[in-house]
Amino acid sequence: MEILHVSAECYPVAKVGGLADVVGSLPKYQQDLGHIAKVVMPMHRMKFLYENEWVVDHKGNINMGSRNLDYTIIKEKENKLGYDLYCVDIFGLTDREKVYGYDDDTERFTAFQIAVVDWLSKWEHRPGVVHVHDHHAALIPFMMQHCFDYRHLAEVPTVITIHNGQYQGWMSWDKSDYLPSWDSWQWGKLDWDNMINPLACGVKCAHRVTTVSPSYMEELMSDANGLEQLFVMERGKCTGILNGIDVAVWDPQKDTYILDNYSVDDLESGKLLNKEKLCRDFNLDKEKPLFIYIGRLVGEKAADLLPRSIQDALFHLNSRMNFLILGSGDPDVEWQLEALKGPFTGYYNSQIGYNEKLAHQMYAGADFILMPSRVEPCGLNQMYAMRYGTVPVVRSIGGLKDTVVDIGDAGGYGIRFNNASVWDITYSIHRAVELYDDKERLQAIREQIMRIDNSWELSAERYINLYQTIR
Ligand code: ADP
Repeated sequence: MEILHVSAECYPVAKVGGLADVVGSLPKYQQDLGHIAKVVMPMHRMKFLYENEWVVDHKGNINMGSRNLDYTIIKEKENKLGYDLYCVDIFGLTDREKVYGYDDDTERFTAFQIAVVDWLSKWEHRPGVVHVHDHHAALIPFMMQHCFDYRHLAEVPTVITIHNGQYQGWMSWDKSDYLPSWDSWQWGKLDWDNMINPLACGVKCAHRVTTVSPSYMEELMSDANGLEQLFVMERGKCTGILNGIDVAVWDPQKDTYILDNYSVDDLESGKLLNKEKLCRDFNLDKEKPLFIYIGRLVGEKAADLLPRSIQDALFHLNSRMNFLILGSGDPDVEWQLEALKGPFTGYYNSQIGYNEKLAHQMYAGADFILMPSRVEPCGLNQMYAMRYGTVPVVRSIGGLKDTVVDIGDAGGYGIRFNNASVWDITYSIHRAVELYDDKERLQAIREQIMRIDNSWELSAERYINLYQTIR
């Protein structure tokens, strides 16, 4: 089967979060299963673009409202990612250095989607399935079914995967003329609460809807940033498929970013060497348990609770632990986290920004990873951490609930808590410190989590089975 993934991000081309990791790796595993997987994304002006060779695959022209736009589809020449990668170049719109965050993101991603559908309409054959990811690609099923120029694509099966239902791409109705001429009887498919809501439209029009974990699917029925009723109504075509991780990229035995490679057989010495380096680099105490946080510093991740929780834990538990934070986001949270460096020198450090190499070094050198998320559609960090023998301390929500079992339960290997609150976080840190002091148990848990198979193989097959139901 031929599968076309459409996404705003794809690792290693352009990454903001987990979406990139998924779109970067799932197609590889689908190819391994004997299918043809392709990815198409906007041509952001990223390093990957300049470091690789490209060929022009197609040139076309589209209208978006009163604008007439030329677009070019280029293809990476050497198949470096293990599947065909295409980028859409639209002068003045896709050629930016950041993936998101511009005032004209609506125009940028609408034009991207129109160009993808236009390109697809010129193919001499039809793909087996068009798989769109998040709201940046969610208007595509509608365009394929209800835009007059593209109706010959209406029978092509479509799937939408929701990596984050908080962001929906809302646009006001005065932008409805951005879409290529469409059947106005179908306006209800675009509308949610008097706005054009691309994510809601994708859920209504795609043949199947998936989320990146089963628990997140259930949670969307009662908490979906206004779309709860829609998910309840469309329940019949909704499924949760847990993300996998790219075990070739996230492998402590081969990871070139870390100081000392290690496997489950020499994990104690391997982790120790990596921890020593990390503690040296960040002026932390290697004898104490090291807690890390890696991620966006936003409300969804409950990053605002970190400064207070860290202070309380250090204060009440007599500084029996270290913390190292890597992330960026809310300026106020960034400021508060930076401000802790002064009073807690020697126990606490942070780096504000995005740093892929340091992230790998932290997964390898840490003892525990903190994830107090308010919303967590899947969460990849806990799976990466476990592959490196780092114990997850997580809130029981979304994908965290599906991938971590508490040490108090049979066969458990992580620490879970129920509320995104300072008290729950500090209490869990306390439980983790106790586990750290029980060296024998800690070692057994580290071995156990390193052996857990969270690779894509099973999930990639689940997607294929899902596609088969709509062909
Ligand atoms: P999100 O909701 O942000 O997509 P995920 O857990 O699904 O969260 O994925 C986060 C991914 O982004 C992981 O690969 C993580 O290592 C990476 N990441 C997040 N913030 C940073 C950062 N500041 N530096 C390096 N990597 C980061």
